[in-house]
Amino acid sequence: MTVTEPADTTRMAGVPTPEAFEAEARAFLDSTAMKRPEEAFVWGQGSDDVSLFPEKTPQQEEADLDVSRTWAKQVFDAGFGWITGPTEHGGRGLPPEYQRIWGRVSAEYRTPSQSIYGIGLGMVAPTILAHGTDEVKRAYLRKMWRGDIVACQLFSEPSSGSDLASLQTRAVKDGDEWILNGQKVWTSGAQVSDIGEIICRTDPDLPKHRGLTGFVVDMHAPGVEVRPLRQMTGGASFNEVFFADVRVPDSHLLGEVNGGWTVALTTLMNERASIGGGGGISLPQSTRLIEAARSVGKQDDPLIRQQLAEIVINERVAGYTNRRAMAKIAAGQLPGPEMSLGKLSLTANMVRTYEVVSSIFGPALVADTGAWGTYAWNQYLTGVPGMRIAGGSDEVMRNILGERVLGLPKEPAPK
Ligand SMILES: Cc1cc2nc3c(=O)[nH]c(=O)nc-3n(C[C@H](O)[C@H](O)[C@H](O)COP(=O)(O)OP(=O)(O)OC[C@H]3O[C@@H](n4cnc5c(N)ncnc54)[C@H](O)[C@@H]3O)c2cc1C
Repeated sequence: MTVTEPADTTRMAGVPTPEAFEAEARAFLDSTAMKRPEEAFVWGQGSDDVSLFPEKTPQQEEADLDVSRTWAKQVFDAGFGWITGPTEHGGRGLPPEYQRIWGRVSAEYRTPSQSIYGIGLGMVAPTILAHGTDEVKRAYLRKMWRGDIVACQLFSEPSSGSDLASLQTRAVKDGDEWILNGQKVWTSGAQVSDIGEIICRTDPDLPKHRGLTGFVVDMHAPGVEVRPLRQMTGGASFNEVFFADVRVPDSHLLGEVNGGWTVALTTLMNERASIGGGGGISLPQSTRLIEAARSVGKQDDPLIRQQLAEIVINERVAGYTNRRAMAKIAAGQLPGPEMSLGKLSLTANMVRTYEVVSSIFGPALVADTGAWGTYAWNQYLTGVPGMRIAGGSDEVMRNILGERVLGLPKEPAPK
């Protein structure tokens, strides 16, 4: 991979006041991006796309990645890429309050999507920071945050999803390297990734949770093969990944040998935080749903009104739970079941959304009449099941809440 050396934002002297930081952020955004116009949602105008998964050709994907990458570099080089990160790895070392200021101010501008970096920055980078060797931190963290490289999560296998600890991809030590053999599946974004966080079995004789080890693997290494999988929405945003005698240096270990379960938990906790916290997936605005009902004259239907009210109420409640989790993170604590609750609340509201849309449009969801804002919901409906599975299925989230919050007896372990 060809990457240019990132500028060193770590030399920035002193800590600005929040007001100075905000002014600096506004000056940067004013010179690089357009202000987002104050738009009121008008039925029938603009895009009616409500899809949950991108439907892109490889050419579109490449072109979009170029745009995302250019923006990520600009933002990073100006000192807004990794605001809270440690300065020795390219971060700016500022408190979370500054991140919130950047989030609030940058939301006022139209900027290119950064969703391609979601898994890398939301899940893999925090795991590297927590468990990576100094060499791995130096090699990847700055490049990840600057958008030079994309990362993926190589956990699930054909027979190991919810029961992740039963995974079978093997890593065997050979001198100062490890040799990887096996298959991963459902790997989102592997087709454009430069590195992956992989969990492998390093000791098959130990109990299943204790014989696992995490590594950072180069996705361009000989022996790595990525094959796209087409999902029912029509797109192919995830993949099968095959490993045939792939060599990984010892320095690319994450955590201890056979300590991979702790590494995986760090990633999964961050995954639930980023999905439950909205991480790029936002529910269609309730205004769009209300206007949808109005467009077919069903705005006074009492059942539809009740369904809409439930969506708004649950969205608010989920928002408060998220804020509790974010406050815990800001206070340096580890959020626990709030993450599972956040993920479950999000998918429960997605289900309510497609139920109300089905009540509003009926057959127009499955047969395209060409009417604006109707058949487009088909992409949403076919995307929701994937959202209910990714990052831990609804059932698994309920198990976690049952056991850790309600104190119900634990599920019997399989013999
Ligand atoms: C959109 C999408 C993106 C994904 N991206 C990635 C990725 O980037 N990297 C990656 O590694 N993986 C990824 N995955 C895989 C995902 O993590 C797994 O699909 C998930 O963990 C479930 O595993 P499984 O598919 O093997 O289903 P299974 O674990 O076989 O589950 C099948 C069914 O059984 C239920 N079930 C399982 N165990 C229990 C239990 N103990 N109690 C009650 N019910 C249970 C489940 O809820 C589900 O309904 C992605 C999946 C999706 C849908």
